[in-house]
Amino acid sequence: MSLFNHIQAAPADPILGLGEAFKAELRPEKINLGIGVYKDANGQTPIVQAVKEAEKRLLAKENTKNYLTIDGISEFNIHTQALLFGENAQVITQKRAKTAQSLGGTGALRIAAEFIKRHTTAQNVWISTPTWPNHNAIFNAVGITIKEYRYYNKETKSLDWNNLIADLAHAEKGDVVLLHGCCHNPTGIDPTPEQWETLAKMSAEKGWLPLFDFAYQGFANGLEEDAFGLRTFAKNHTELLVASSFSKNFGLYNERVGAFTLVAENENVANNAFSQVKSIIRVLYSNPSSHGASAVATVLADNELKANWIAELAEMRNRIKQMRAKFVELLKQKGATQNFDFIIEQNGMFSFSGLTPEQVDRLRDEFAIYAVRSGRINVAGITEANINALCDAIVKVL
Ligand code: PMP
Repeated sequence: MSLFNHIQAAPADPILGLGEAFKAELRPEKINLGIGVYKDANGQTPIVQAVKEAEKRLLAKENTKNYLTIDGISEFNIHTQALLFGENAQVITQKRAKTAQSLGGTGALRIAAEFIKRHTTAQNVWISTPTWPNHNAIFNAVGITIKEYRYYNKETKSLDWNNLIADLAHAEKGDVVLLHGCCHNPTGIDPTPEQWETLAKMSAEKGWLPLFDFAYQGFANGLEEDAFGLRTFAKNHTELLVASSFSKNFGLYNERVGAFTLVAENENVANNAFSQVKSIIRVLYSNPSSHGASAVATVLADNELKANWIAELAEMRNRIKQMRAKFVELLKQKGATQNFDFIIEQNGMFSFSGLTPEQVDRLRDEFAIYAVRSGRINVAGITEANINALCDAIVKVL
């Protein structure tokens, strides 16, 4: 009698499963627009030079592999707060923000979910439709009720602002409202500064607990610019949560570097709440690993390395913007029957292309082009070398 025989196979993750299928693809002309990983003009995901230099320095001076504390490297946590809220922001000087290094943005979200479930009165967590599929999975894992707010208008290919407001009007005091800090995944569409102001006021009036998922800081318009939404909320709210990631903006995907940040009304409340966060982490994975966060802290502590990193990040951002423009232009030139101008306005790596699941299937079957069936494409996967073939194929399946 087996104790395991009854177990059914789990469905493949819609995004990671795509990566495996791409790996197994034998046609040499294959193009991967699936998983959200930055690629340079040569289709490579390079190591950020500032990180490489930081790693050299770390290797030279590292003299122990002793455990980190539960909340990780304190310099890393301090630098993270400065990036999120701005140097000398009030939440920092008033010591109301507490940060724990986490295993990527996903790890931070999982800490957030556990914290919300155990220590707040939240009945629901409000998630945009569409959103990154792992949001649903993470909150389901801790048993919090998920409610959805509309986000995307298919007809206008823009933010469904009126319905977003109408849906969130039903969010109750204490409910968690999950917001993408910038570069909304999968749509690439973010609120305008005015809309952020409106949301922040509404949120404060209604007494929601905002949770920012901030996985792409620096990929829309710049490190400071992209924090506008979060910082507007921080001005209006005494309490909020942030799950941030350095996977994309530091290219540290496989080192698992992120942070969970809690902002409370005052230092005392922040300390008490944070002690519970540490208890949660102790049970989940005890303490984080050192390498990636040490590299980030080393870069951010050194003016020259930091400047180099910011320049490299700008290069990534600008390459994606150039590819957006070229993609739209080329589709027009090749006689696309649909207008794709909206793609230029979208932020970050992703674009909600408007391609249907059937069209995405045809791209894969007939042209070895891989994208998520929702029509989300990773614009960073487009290069000078593949853009022609890609646009030809899209025009054929439209
Ligand atoms: N949130 C969103 C919206 C994301 O797109 C991602 C990465 N795909 C994450 C969080 C988590 O990133 P990681 O765990 O790799 O840092």
